[in-house]
Parts: sequence; C-alpha cells; structure tokens
Amino acid sequence: MNEQMYEGKAKILYKTDDNEVSLMHFKDDITAGDGAKKDTMIDKGKLNCTISKKIFEYLEKQRGIPTHYISSPNANEQLVKKLKILPIEVIVRNIAAGSICRRYGVRKGHIFKTPLLELFYKDDDLHDPLVRDSVILEMEWCTAHELAEIKRQAFIVHDKMTNYWKEYDLKLVDAKYEFGLDSDGNIMLADEVTPDSCRLWDKDGNSLDKDVFRQGTDMDKVSTVYNYIHDMIHADPIG
Ligand code: 5GP
Repeated sequence: MNEQMYEGKAKILYKTDDNEVSLMHFKDDITAGDGAKKDTMIDKGKLNCTISKKIFEYLEKQRGIPTHYISSPNANEQLVKKLKILPIEVIVRNIAAGSICRRYGVRKGHIFKTPLLELFYKDDDLHDPLVRDSVILEMEWCTAHELAEIKRQAFIVHDKMTNYWKEYDLKLVDAKYEFGLDSDGNIMLADEVTPDSCRLWDKDGNSLDKDVFRQGTDMDKVSTVYNYIHDMIHADPIG
C-alpha cells in the first residue's frame, strides 16, 4: 500500500515510487456545506475520476493548457504530477448561483456581462473565505506572478469548459479551479473538473451537478445526474 500524503473530503493522495508522481484516489463520499452534509454514492469515485480524466485529456489537447493529469490506471484512480498546490480556489462565474447570491443579493440566474473571477482561501477551519489579491500577497499564499498566472489560466480553462458544455446543450454556471507548481516551477491546473466542482444547467434550468445533493435528499437522483454527465461525455466525445 502506498503511503498516504493527504486526505480530503472527496479524494486521497498517495505517494508513488516516483517522487514526481502522486496517485489520486477518488472516494465515493459526497459532502456539502463544509462537510456538514455527508453521504456516500455508489460508484461516485469512478464516475468523477472518469469524468475528470476525460476533461483533463480534452484540455491537454487544447494547446497551452497544462494539467497535472498523467494517466488513469484504475477507474477511480489517477496518476498525477506531484505539485505544490496553491491554497487558493479560483472560482469563475458565468451566471449567478450559490454563494455570490447570498453575498451580494444578486438574483440566481443573473448573467454576468463577462466571466467573473473570485478568489477564496482554501482553509476548512476558516470556511474557505473570499479573499482579495492584497491579502493573498501579504499572507504569501502565492507570489504576484503565480497569482497573475492562475487567473490567466483559469479564464482560459473556463472559456474552453464553457464551450465544451455548450456542445452538450448545457450551461456552465460557475466552476472552481485549483492550481499547483511542479518541481520546475511550472504552474498547472490540478485537482478535478467534475459535477462536484462546477454548476451545470440544462436548457430548462435543471441542475446537473452537486446542487442536486446540496438541495435534496434523494441519493438516487444525485446518482442519476452524475451517471448522466458521465455517460453523455463518454458516448459522444467532443474532444
Ligand atoms: P459557491 O461559491 O457558489 O459556493 O461555489 C461556486 C462554484 O465553485 C460551484 O460550482 C461549487 O461547486 C464550486 N466550489 C466552491 N467551493 C468548492 C469546494 O470547496 N470544493 C469543490 N469541489 N467545489 C467548490
């Protein structure tokens, strides 16, 4: 058994024999509200792992989008580049939903004139607070260069993902991206891109993402949504 490096709410990271490579295990756990709501979902690990694999492969094919993804040796595991993860969540929003509605009183469904980028400090104890650039730099959570680069990459990735989901008649409402540095200092997209980390609405405004779990109790419905996204992008590959 490989040595565990880190365990999060939805994934576990293990060391491998290669010091430049980690093994990312996707758990069947599903949580919301900072872990206040918890459940397990059959095959969630496999579904999210294969959804994210497909999307990272798609992004990698798009020139100029480096990611941590290397391969997927098992349905619920990925080999990824070992990175120093920056403690910043980059959220890009096309349409208002979730925390921004509560924060600013903006109507759910309001379409932003241009994708809106917000930064959050990744810290469970502090409940991932919204942070401004000056605080990030003062706290040395990353450098000015790294901050500029993760914003630049987040906008590019988000634009690609907005178009990607549009091909399936889905609206990308918002998404959370994380970035890290490899041993040469290269900054790249990390973590996962799945219905856990973004909001997707169909043309009738139905959620096809973790909001179904956040707002409901029917785990069959949650499972149907994750399976739907998985089957959709595997049956009709765009990239
Ligand atoms: P909000 O700020 O509205 O809670 O979230 C905005 C977007 O970022 C949503 O798509 C949400 O799923 C995603 N997001 C926010 N925080 C987290 C997080 O800690 N983990 C994951 N996986 N996604 C998050």
